[in-house]
Amino acid sequence: MTDSASDRAARLAHLRREGLEKGDPVPLPLTLAAMFHLPGDPAGVSQYGRFANPTWDGVEKLLGHLEDATAVAFPSGMAAISAVLFSLLRTGERVLLPSDGYYTVRVLAERFLVPMGIGFDTRPTAGFLEDGFDGYRLVFLETPANPGLDLCDIAAVAKKARAAGALVIADNTTMTPYGQRPLDLGVDAVVAADTKAPNGHSDTLFGHVTSRNETIVAAVRDWRKLAGGIPGPFEAWLVHRGLETLEVRFERMCNSAELIATRLRDHPRVRALRYPGLKDDPGHALAVRQMQRFGFLIGLTLGSADEAEAFIDRCALIQPATSFGGVHTSAERRARWGDAVDAGFVRLSIGCEPTEELWNAIASALEG
Ligand SMILES: *Cc1c(COP(=O)(O)O)cnc(C)c1O
Repeated sequence: MTDSASDRAARLAHLRREGLEKGDPVPLPLTLAAMFHLPGDPAGVSQYGRFANPTWDGVEKLLGHLEDATAVAFPSGMAAISAVLFSLLRTGERVLLPSDGYYTVRVLAERFLVPMGIGFDTRPTAGFLEDGFDGYRLVFLETPANPGLDLCDIAAVAKKARAAGALVIADNTTMTPYGQRPLDLGVDAVVAADTKAPNGHSDTLFGHVTSRNETIVAAVRDWRKLAGGIPGPFEAWLVHRGLETLEVRFERMCNSAELIATRLRDHPRVRALRYPGLKDDPGHALAVRQMQRFGFLIGLTLGSADEAEAFIDRCALIQPATSFGGVHTSAERRARWGDAVDAGFVRLSIGCEPTEELWNAIASALEG
């Protein structure tokens, strides 16, 4: 973890202190409110539960602190992505999406953007810079891409796409604000699913948009308020609690993933391995340049679909589940959803279990 990340993590735990009056609760209160006391002139205060909520403010303060930006909270990662696409795009404009990123974004574009006259193209993350960005109003990148873990050069994409007149949006879900800082690398906005590591306990869906561009912040806030897809206060409270321990969890997860990836690479049962932290990974040189850590996701390919399923089922310390980033290690065979990966490809999300115990369980499940 870099010094600035440690500094941000240290201050995060004390951010609330600034505004406290004597006798106030130290932890963030959960405020469930549709109505607010509102006599006379309604300006300048919370007016109605679809417009504002103090618990949203609490979680947005932490997210904004982590990314040095303004954060807007959403009820899921897809709600955050939808807010960006639907508030910033107009009929006749064109979007570029990764062909190997989170697949729901492509389905959303096909199902809802195209009928509104907003076209889209897709391109593999590893070759995202090829063919330039002429003609795009919005370029959406995801690195490392979920699930294949290919990378693209965020600073180079941001520079070239912005020069071509596009807004550049980065999905930072796989890395979290502690692992990668796309806004520092020049993108216009970050979107992320806090459902994953930021909440970290697999009990809540949540998302956010962060930006240093006030026009973008105002657009997504208006979208949330007017379209009405707002986060629940209790979910916001849970994510606030999760963010307070994200740095500790993320450190353990990344440290374990680095060690386990090295051992998996040398394991005779593993046909192929993707982890940006491995020196021979195609994304390694770029990962060293643009990521603070190498993340907690590992892509491993076993001999067949059956072998992959048996490995996941057999391992006592792996939850067979979709989604990732929880305190418990989880895994799934992504081809079961139709992702363009090998039938034996397993996306392994390393959790917070003690490292050697986790490795022993993985190694014995590989032995069969
Ligand atoms: C999970 C995920 C999303 C969507 O998040 P939800 O909270 O499920 O809506 C978006 N992007 C990436 C990269 C994801 O992994």
